[in-house]
Amino acid sequence: MALWVVRTPRTFRTVVLPPSWSYVARVPMLSSRVIVISAPRLCGYWKRSISEAVLPLHKEETYNYQQEYQPTYHLNDAYNPFFKETPQYKEEEKLQYSSFEQINHYLLDVERLYNGTVKSFEIGHSVEGRPIRGIRISKNPGVRKPALLLDAGIHAREWVGPVVAQYAIQQLLANASNANLTDGLDWYILPMLNPDGYVFSMEHPPARLWRKNKAQTFVNYCGGVDLNRNFDYVWGGPGSSDDPCSTNYRGPYPFSEPEAVAFGRFVLSIAQDLRMYLTLHSAAQAILYPWGYTNLVPPDWQDLDALAKKAEAAMSLVNGTRYHVGPTTKLVGLGAGGSDDWAKGAVGIKYVYTLELPGLFYPEKGFHPPTEALPIIAREAFEGIRVFAEHARNRRP
Ligand SMILES: [Zn+2]
Repeated sequence: MALWVVRTPRTFRTVVLPPSWSYVARVPMLSSRVIVISAPRLCGYWKRSISEAVLPLHKEETYNYQQEYQPTYHLNDAYNPFFKETPQYKEEEKLQYSSFEQINHYLLDVERLYNGTVKSFEIGHSVEGRPIRGIRISKNPGVRKPALLLDAGIHAREWVGPVVAQYAIQQLLANASNANLTDGLDWYILPMLNPDGYVFSMEHPPARLWRKNKAQTFVNYCGGVDLNRNFDYVWGGPGSSDDPCSTNYRGPYPFSEPEAVAFGRFVLSIAQDLRMYLTLHSAAQAILYPWGYTNLVPPDWQDLDALAKKAEAAMSLVNGTRYHVGPTTKLVGLGAGGSDDWAKGAVGIKYVYTLELPGLFYPEKGFHPPTEALPIIAREAFEGIRVFAEHARNRRP
């Protein structure tokens, strides 16, 4: 299989698909790029088409079908010792699930408290008009530095992600022993990418397991788009559904949803500085790296795998919890159109990870670990984030 990213004039719109499988996408927000992914037997066709059209090739990668991969841990090997004994916490160590309003207040509070270092911003609005907010942590905002992007909450029911994102903010700002993590590295943290879905899952108990946003669809009794299937990289591929009643409904076209568009635009606006993209999900207890749209892995998968294993080892020192490490498809199955694939494939960020936080009692209560478990989950996750951040800071573009 081969992949080309081709720079084209803005007017170039028509791409004729050959009659059998391959994929072509304009990346609308990158305005002048077309991505072509082709099965081996069609490589010649595409190479000729590209050269006949005199289109400058930006990137060409060839994937080997034989590139087999063995994940570190099999799914039933992950170990979580939490319930052996109930931990006791000091009052200040306790963590809670927070409402959408509380998350936003928290972001504004830290901006006030750390005025000059923290800047809050709004990247856009949800379908129902709620703001999607984030903060930048930058010790020396006038100076350009490498940056790390951390987000959470794209899937409404995965409540533990926003808890960890807020914990990371608190650790970076209030814990002096973490001061080095903001030296020479800017942080962009967006704890809640899907406010409508989150509010829905919190305020309507029957909708506790709601995953999507709150868009209307062409089926009036089935609403919502899975925002993590709506990104424009092999959009519509395997592991996403065209049925609005499915929890994996990908939307009518790539970037059809305002939440995904807002996030995509934001990522592109900071892309030049981004060295690392971490997206928090739950509850597979795993560190995943691309791809989610195919069983294949990217050519640099060994770099991603090695760093993920280093992070996982650091996380395991907190409480003995072991996370799975491996490509998305191998560990949680196919899912085309995710923000992680898009960040790596379309934007070109090398280090992209989905951090699947633990569920405990997965799957019944997988999306709602007891609050006593939150401090351990957050501490473990932060130790992994620390390893990723140190790598991002030290790495040249
Ligand atoms: Zn998720």
